[in-house]
Amino acid sequence: MSKDKRRGLIIVNTGNGKGKTTAALGTAFRAAGQGFNIMIIQFIKGSWKYGELEAAKKFDNLTITPMGKGFIKLGAAEPEAADCRLAEETWSACEQAILSGDYDLVVCDEVNYALSYKLLPVQRVIETLQKRPSYVHVILTGRDAPPEIVELADLVTEMREIKHPYQTGISAQRGIEF
Ligand code: ATP
Ligand code: MG
Repeated sequence: MSKDKRRGLIIVNTGNGKGKTTAALGTAFRAAGQGFNIMIIQFIKGSWKYGELEAAKKFDNLTITPMGKGFIKLGAAEPEAADCRLAEETWSACEQAILSGDYDLVVCDEVNYALSYKLLPVQRVIETLQKRPSYVHVILTGRDAPPEIVELADLVTEMREIKHPYQTGISAQRGIEF
């Protein structure tokens, strides 16, 4: 399908169950096979694991950009100014990738986290998404997707936890968790 016939989708992977980021990576893998140019940007440092960073090197059309230093003041009443700055910088990188027209698919991993912790105004994200080139697909991941994002999206999936190996004390497994 040519770019001008394509309908760029806004895709949201949310919920408390495992699989939000890995589903985005799976889509990126599929899109890579279609020759798409793909940019993946992380909002939380360390959320990209060795496995996907190494695998991405094997593709010349898929780039993973780890950003920032990580947001650490979890549960604080007011977001820290430094964390907000970092979230804004990371969104600027997403925005550049989305609006440049150079990418067919942009993954903003854990952006919902930055939104739900009010590190980033939801309106800023919505404005970028609305003015993107029509052929650009965007995937937004993370728990607690704000209702405004869900409203705007074309495809929203909520991962629901039924079982997780951590609950029975099984440690993170290579190739599955990292
Ligand atoms: P993944 O990257 O494995 O697809 P995710 O993106 O859905 O996970 P995150 O909220 O980004 O989930 O959390 C990442 C880490 O938290 C992973 O190590 C994952 O296994 C773990 N995790 C996710 N969901 C659960 C859960 N329901 N219980 C315990 N740990 C979880
Ligand atoms: Mg994740």
